[in-house]
Amino acid sequence: MFDVVVIGGGPGGYVAAIRAAQLGLKTALAEKADLGGVCLNRGCIPTKSLLHAAAMMRNIKDAEALGIHAGQVRLDFNKVMAHKESQVKTLTGGVRYLLGKNGVTLYRGEAEILSPDTVAVDDQKISCRHIIIAVGSSPVKPGIPGMENPAVMTSDEALSLAELPKSMGIIGGGVIGIEMALIFQSFGCATSIVEMEDRIAPLMDKEISGGLEALLKKQGIRIYTGSKVEAIEKGRILCKTGADSLQLPAKKVLAAVGRASNGLKLSLDRAGIAHEKGIIKTDACLRTNIPNIYAIGDVNGKYMLAHVASAEGLRAAENIAEAGRPMDYSAVPQCIYTEPEAAAVGLTETEAAEKGYTLKVSRIPVSANGRSLTEGCTQGFIKIVAEKTGRILGVHILAPHASELITQCVSAIRFRATARELNEIIYPHPSVSELIMEAAHGISGKPIHI
Ligand code: FAD
Repeated sequence: MFDVVVIGGGPGGYVAAIRAAQLGLKTALAEKADLGGVCLNRGCIPTKSLLHAAAMMRNIKDAEALGIHAGQVRLDFNKVMAHKESQVKTLTGGVRYLLGKNGVTLYRGEAEILSPDTVAVDDQKISCRHIIIAVGSSPVKPGIPGMENPAVMTSDEALSLAELPKSMGIIGGGVIGIEMALIFQSFGCATSIVEMEDRIAPLMDKEISGGLEALLKKQGIRIYTGSKVEAIEKGRILCKTGADSLQLPAKKVLAAVGRASNGLKLSLDRAGIAHEKGIIKTDACLRTNIPNIYAIGDVNGKYMLAHVASAEGLRAAENIAEAGRPMDYSAVPQCIYTEPEAAAVGLTETEAAEKGYTLKVSRIPVSANGRSLTEGCTQGFIKIVAEKTGRILGVHILAPHASELITQCVSAIRFRATARELNEIIYPHPSVSELIMEAAHGISGKPIHI
């Protein structure tokens, strides 16, 4: 009899299993495919590996301006992909090692919930006191004529292409569409993004969307917002943008329009678990309607982010071992790994205004930051949205290393800090983090370097 069976070994499930075992619970983890889930195998890590290679290519080309002559830059696409794969293997091997080291029993196979205290993995029945469902999500393809064309792929296939296509049409200008566009355009594939909303990255602050669009266009990526793909044909996609019809070259078409919960494949109804289209309903403590069953990560539909899945995994395991504590989503960071990077936490300016706050907003351009300048970046900004007391409500950054800078802002929002408190600490010089200091000074109307 196990105390906990975790179903799914992605960043939600494997973290939950390790923490449950650390807390003295007899724990099993069932995984039907690769440990590490989407994040390590077909998501966060492979995209960042390819983005790093893409940035290196651009930087080598740009080095000429610094007086560094690197000669002709040539891409060996297969080698780049193999390197990415070896990084994935290193990390998934690390997950396997950590599970073993913490005494988690691993079942390789497809799990099913037979009842609230029995999980089956292939032919084996496992009795347990608690279940944590962490089965994640899969990419969806929109119902557009021509979607059955073999040139159409999801992010899964895009990350394992055998050769670099000459052109790519990307349907969807969200985080995945944007990162893929930057990767493939940098490698030499002519890339277009078609987005139905009136801006790319539509969930981010409007100014971040605008900044991202400008920097992607500067890389040569064609972007059509407020536009709709109407059909996919051999070698091209047909779109409507306003009253105009467009044909965009697309030897490959990437559908990056969203993801669907894997919950439906789990026979949730048989176990009596409440869900909507496979998205499992949970309370604030991550319990489903069945008190000993928890659901974490993409499958509960709250956020589709690896770090949220892991945070929920920790909380679910702790709630099983100890008294239940609710999840705190007050400060969830979101990043897009462009160059410079985009990162945000808290309310956008529009959301804060809609909530009725009297706002103070401070913006500092990256061009005012010495460290960014030395790294060759003058594009971007930081924007702090605060309420009239100076309490920080949201921070939006388009700057070098924004995914690192945002953590300080996460702390500020989580611990309800004011701009003044952010300015009571000393920032290293020269550093990109001085942008946070300047923007916080800006809330009191007294920035120094602007
Ligand atoms: P998953 O990672 O989907 O893992 C679920 C696991 O469950 C899988 O391994 C699956 O095989 C297994 N499973 C499913 N059903 C069963 C079953 N019946 N029995 C046994 N095992 C089963 N997020 C970020 O935070 N940062 C990023 O930079 C980022 N980049 C991304 C880039 C791309 C291209 C994509 C597609 C996603 C990206 N994400 C990113 C999102 C992130 O990958 C997911 O939010 C995260 O992986 C969700 O974790 P999870 O544990 O809920 O599920």
